[in-house]
Amino acid sequence: MKRRDVLARLAGGAAAGLAAAGRLAAQTDSLSERRKGGKMPLELEDFVPKSMLHVAEHTVERSKYPVVDVHTHWSFSAKSPDGSGLKFSATPEELLAVMDRRNIRTLINVTGGYDKGFLESHTRYDLAHPGRFITFTEPQWHRANEAGYAKMQADAIEREVGRGAKGLKVLKTLGLYLRNTDGSLVKVDDKRFDLMWEACAAKNIPVFMHVGDPEAFFLPTDRFNERFEELNNHPDWSFHGKDFPSFMDIMEARNRVLARHPKTQFVLLHWGNDAENLGLVAQWMDKFPNIQVEMAARIGELGRAPRNTRKFIDRYQDRCMFGTDAIPKGYNVPQQIFGDDLYKIYYRFLETTDEYFDYAPAPVPPQGRWRIYGLGLPDAILKKIYHANIDRLLR
Ligand SMILES: [Zn+2]
Repeated sequence: MKRRDVLARLAGGAAAGLAAAGRLAAQTDSLSERRKGGKMPLELEDFVPKSMLHVAEHTVERSKYPVVDVHTHWSFSAKSPDGSGLKFSATPEELLAVMDRRNIRTLINVTGGYDKGFLESHTRYDLAHPGRFITFTEPQWHRANEAGYAKMQADAIEREVGRGAKGLKVLKTLGLYLRNTDGSLVKVDDKRFDLMWEACAAKNIPVFMHVGDPEAFFLPTDRFNERFEELNNHPDWSFHGKDFPSFMDIMEARNRVLARHPKTQFVLLHWGNDAENLGLVAQWMDKFPNIQVEMAARIGELGRAPRNTRKFIDRYQDRCMFGTDAIPKGYNVPQQIFGDDLYKIYYRFLETTDEYFDYAPAPVPPQGRWRIYGLGLPDAILKKIYHANIDRLLR
């Protein structure tokens, strides 16, 4: 949205006498006052400052130890009744070329769908290239309101594990999109999924869980939101207002699931979705021995608090994993485009002590206008994060 439209909207809000009118008018006033002061106007999206900082820069072409990227998406579900029609965004050969250049031993495709779709991904990638690809299965959300869903879903997990599934992926669908027949949102701790969580424990596969989203996505998309540009680029990522639960409501519902299923191993994706609040994530780690975390699309958060992150990783070094959320050809999400540039940034973050560098291959930091600092992790921890922790979990 151009600033003209923003101003028109702000002015409209004031005229309508809405509750927020006073605050909005104040915003408008301060903007126009600054313009009157003779200062040159500049659209935020046109502001691309070059850092004048002179510091050492290290390019890490290959990771120091072989990598398992535990969080990628080379396919997306077609939501068909039998799971067929999975859409693939890269061939195995395209993926392998990058993997070989960047020392990536294995990619995990978390969105491998179910039934025929799962079989297709598993056969075409995992079985054709042993050790290089792993496909996870997903719940059949579209059937969640059918009678007998709980047992059907638990049985489906058992069937996919028999066919080679090594894990279950839960998208933020649960808690933010999936609805009951009466139109209300299904809660993350809805009991109809209990059999599914238990089936994962019984079959000894981890649940890779993404519920909620960054804290800022639950706040208004306004000039006080540090992820304004990101939300402005992806308005559908905003979970503010409507009937959405609050960020903490979702986290608490998730925590009740973790407590209720202590034998199930949960990997909380995106660092538990609160990489902004490492103190809180540490409390969860202490409270729930059945959880681990992975860093996909959160090095922007972790890397702007490098000292806290380093302390966290030192303490929980056996329960942190390497993931990127990489999507082949994912051009509308620069922090997740599968390719050489993305991996070099992750390696630089983990292995060097470089200062103030971009967390994504993009001219403007896409998740917020800041830069990050390297962690300079020691070899023993690098090995654990790059592959040993996930190898142990998947045995
Ligand atoms: Zn993802």
